[in-house]
Amino acid sequence: MGTHPNGPSTVLGGEKETFLSDWIDANLDVLGPTVKETFDGKLPFLFKVLSVNKALSIQAHPNKSHATVLHKERPEIYKDPNHKPEMAIALTPFEGLCGFRPLTEIQKFVNTVPEFAEVIGQDAANALASGSDSLALKKAFAALMTSNPDIVSQQLNQLLERLREKKSSGHDISDQCGDLVLRLNSQFPGDVGCFCIYFLNHIVLQPGEAMFLGPNLPHAYLAGGNECYKLKIT
Ligand SMILES: [Zn+2]
Repeated sequence: MGTHPNGPSTVLGGEKETFLSDWIDANLDVLGPTVKETFDGKLPFLFKVLSVNKALSIQAHPNKSHATVLHKERPEIYKDPNHKPEMAIALTPFEGLCGFRPLTEIQKFVNTVPEFAEVIGQDAANALASGSDSLALKKAFAALMTSNPDIVSQQLNQLLERLREKKSSGHDISDQCGDLVLRLNSQFPGDVGCFCIYFLNHIVLQPGEAMFLGPNLPHAYLAGGNECYKLKIT
């Protein structure tokens, strides 16, 4: 719900349908004095109610000045000159990926999940093991995202097989985010995103809890707000 030109809400109940933006223009006081002044009489947010049945793609949004430049240079791709910080508030248990894990956690996965180490490659794995700077992280994440899809699917299959075997023999696979890998692969078989969980924080929110997604922070919504969620999580 909002006044974005790509999908403006309409106000019902009058003689004719009115765009929310026009209605706000005519009833400026609904914004309150601070918002009215700061945002030049415009509604500064979009309000969405999401039911996440299936994981959504990993995204990161530019900051305001970068968004303005991108929109100017390539308006057909970047349709909006505005930044897009997000606040997600859980109405039911909610699960998502948000921001990079601490380097030590990622290093731990490199050491304990051989298929993950194989996909990012020896160079990036070494950099992660010795480095403590963001360059090592950048190098490793770029290595994953640009890795050969054949190697990704081969290593993923190997990982899945290993996890299933371990699970069926009664072992705990949570230390390798095993159930999450199995679930994401069932939704998007062979997708490189299945390995991204070793880079990104896995967050579970309870109703009323929230997470804020600032500019350039990679994030993805995984599940929440539907009956399937309960089935998957238990
Ligand atoms: Zn987003």
